[in-house]
Amino acid sequence: MARTKSVYSCQSCGYQTGKWLGRCPACGEWNTLVEEIISAKTAKTATTASSSPQLLSEVSYDPEYRFSTNIDEFDRVLGGGVVPGSVILVGGDPGICKSTLLLQASAGMAKHNGPLLYVSGEESASQIKLCAQRLKITSDKLYVVSETCLEAIRQHISGLKPQVLILDSIQTAYTNQLDSAPGSIAQVRQVTADLLRLS
Ligand SMILES: [Zn+2]
Repeated sequence: MARTKSVYSCQSCGYQTGKWLGRCPACGEWNTLVEEIISAKTAKTATTASSSPQLLSEVSYDPEYRFSTNIDEFDRVLGGGVVPGSVILVGGDPGICKSTLLLQASAGMAKHNGPLLYVSGEESASQIKLCAQRLKITSDKLYVVSETCLEAIRQHISGLKPQVLILDSIQTAYTNQLDSAPGSIAQVRQVTADLLRLS
């Protein structure tokens, strides 16, 4: 049986402690410390080097190579488009059409690039289709899947090998390495770190 370790994480500032406290000593908020179980398998992952050191002067980099979203204003905000290998967080209040914007950007990026995978934890594939029809989006390289488990998402990624992955949203995604609820600081942090490594 794997040994599990638990920590108390402040849902307001991310402060972690081994024992429960009524008030977070870091940010001063009350009742924000939530127990999070970290299973032994996350603590004991084998370390293998995935890349070797390179001379900085020999690192190849093409500053012009970016994925255009085909939305001028979006590209401008991103400094000219999406840099391959990067992770971008699109934030905003609920209901301001982040999903709509991302769906439009997906279609734009799929136009000139390889397969693109749109993972939605908020809507079903048919709901996304309905939205795409409303926006008059058609693409033969845009794949959609309704999924929230990171391990399942990783399987879709290794099968499809998309050039761009859209995850809608980080709040609904979870890894089964952690027992805490989706949207908790521990889950958001872990899923983001895993996706960053993957990208
Ligand atoms: Zn705090």
